[in-house]
Amino acid sequence: MTLLAGNILVQRSILTKVVKKKKWARCYFERVRYNVDTTNSAESFNGVIKDARKFTLLPMFDFIIGKIAEWFNKHRKEAAEMPPALKLVPIVEEEMTKRCVDAGFLRVDELNSFHLEYSVHGSDGKRYTVDMAMNTCTCGQFDKNKYPCVHAVAAATFMAEKAGKELHLSEYCSKYYLVEQWALAHHRTMYPVPHMSDWVIPEEIRAKKVLPPEFEVKKGKPQQTRKPSAGEARGRGKRGRGSGRGRATSTDTGRARGRGMAAYFECGSGSGSGV
Ligand SMILES: [Zn+2]
Repeated sequence: MTLLAGNILVQRSILTKVVKKKKWARCYFERVRYNVDTTNSAESFNGVIKDARKFTLLPMFDFIIGKIAEWFNKHRKEAAEMPPALKLVPIVEEEMTKRCVDAGFLRVDELNSFHLEYSVHGSDGKRYTVDMAMNTCTCGQFDKNKYPCVHAVAAATFMAEKAGKELHLSEYCSKYYLVEQWALAHHRTMYPVPHMSDWVIPEEIRAKKVLPPEFEVKKGKPQQTRKPSAGEARGRGKRGRGSGRGRATSTDTGRARGRGMAAYFECGSGSGSGV
């Protein structure tokens, strides 16, 4: 047995016996998992603030706030540059475009025109039941991802053609994948914390003397990187770095700046959205 095969067997054993399936498999997760990104964002953020973590507390906070302000500004601009005709965030819009092509080859049988239930013949030879009223499909993807699977796209296309209407897949997506929500999430400005001399601190707070908890100074150099989990590779490979996996990729090169979501960022607009 090769070393790689051995590692895979060990990791599989840990995942199935030690870590419960609901902890790592999205289809077994008991609630609604947000986002289409399944990577551990905390680890990514730790990588971003790797150098700043060596600072003292206030400079480290300044760095974190500055980084978040930079990201908010970037995503605010991206959302504003979306053409008004596009209702879905880029990563889902791209997926829907691909699925529309694949769905064109699938046969759809109407089961119940009142309950909007359809039977779709999948490319794998199986038949899937799609409920367009409940936004579910027996393949499970529609239910979990909260945007249409290829079977649901086929059913939605069938419905639109039958009704003689234009296809709007955004109607079957979670509102969190709408550009409107994306824009609202970033419409507020992140401001840096003012200088300490400008802080307004109530007298009773100023009078309190806060000391750090007692702690034991450990010998040696303090650890600056986390300890790998059981079964996790110890190497420091660069695989995937910069590949943009799981990100809302910026495919908006050359997009004309339309009015679209820009309205949310104009002075006073959207401030009463309750976000
Ligand atoms: Zn499906």
